[in-house]
Amino acid sequence: MKIALTSDNIAGASDSVLEAMMAASKGDAMPYGNDEATAEVTTMLSELFECDLDVFLVSTGTAANVLSVSAMTPPWGSVLCHTESHLMNDESTAPEFYTGGARFVGIEGADAKMDPVLLKKVVSQKVGDVHSCQPSAVSLSQVTEVGSVYSLDEIRALTDVAKSAGLPVHMDGARFANALVALGCSPAEMTWKAGVDIVSFGATKNGTMASEAIVVFNKALSKELGFRRKRGGHLHSKMRLLSSQMIAYLTDDLWRKNATHANAMMALLQEGLKSVPGVVINTPAQANMLFCTLPAGMAEHLQAEGFAFYGGRWEEGVVRLVTSFRTPAEGIDAFVASARRFADSV
Ligand SMILES: *Cc1c(COP(=O)(O)O)cnc(C)c1O
Repeated sequence: MKIALTSDNIAGASDSVLEAMMAASKGDAMPYGNDEATAEVTTMLSELFECDLDVFLVSTGTAANVLSVSAMTPPWGSVLCHTESHLMNDESTAPEFYTGGARFVGIEGADAKMDPVLLKKVVSQKVGDVHSCQPSAVSLSQVTEVGSVYSLDEIRALTDVAKSAGLPVHMDGARFANALVALGCSPAEMTWKAGVDIVSFGATKNGTMASEAIVVFNKALSKELGFRRKRGGHLHSKMRLLSSQMIAYLTDDLWRKNATHANAMMALLQEGLKSVPGVVINTPAQANMLFCTLPAGMAEHLQAEGFAFYGGRWEEGVVRLVTSFRTPAEGIDAFVASARRFADSV
């Protein structure tokens, strides 16, 4: 069985998400989020995160990220995030565009996790110096861009640095559910209890069609977000169609079930690949993404056998493998078997 491990957004949407959209599209409802379904999303997320919060639904993860950080950062400010972060590398110049030209400063750290010691050096650099950009916000990705997951202590170490400098913290949770399942903690523990002010609560990669929630714990940031979302062209008039997706995603723990499956498929894949001679695990996968180095010729062999994934973008032999809520176990077995056949043949 051939499978694609290109990304988790190659999978479509969960059936109940589409069914919920169909149902929501039948009747009339007030536009721009002044409808019952949108209010229900806020109620559901408040229960999930065990706190009072505001929600701004948008239809892409990029919009969720850049709107979130724009509400934290003046145009003369800087946003501190990992060098390999999505904000730095995968959102074109939307971060600069939405912040009105703020600077994005990359912080190094192993496994795409910011090093709190390096962060500490930068948060207080040239504060008050009119000639220099002013550190204004910190953004961390959970899951990270290489498939690692910050532990609660690691999140706390970063937010402590941020808080001691008076900076708000954003979490890019494009793979929020996968990280949460990996840590086995509560959504509250991974966010506001750990010092996070806003999270981009991703859902599209894990089962919705196009619905992402900006979840605001620090409600002082909300007023501005409302205006910024409209100004940025992301206030959907038929908001209920986005809301219905999010409701379905949160109903009956679909989001956890989907992420649990994706993570389990990755665990299966990783275990299998560990036993294939010549394959090197670069960053151990804790959630649903793995970077590994394949011996010469193996990637081409796998691709020739019909398996799809990204490679050729990093160092020699490095490939990225991502499982989704729909990846079949038989496909993983076939992938590992094919890799092993190649290893045995050389
Ligand atoms: C996919 C992803 C996003 C969101 O990207 P969109 O393509 O705009 O939906 C944000 N952050 C990370 C780390 C991602 O992997």
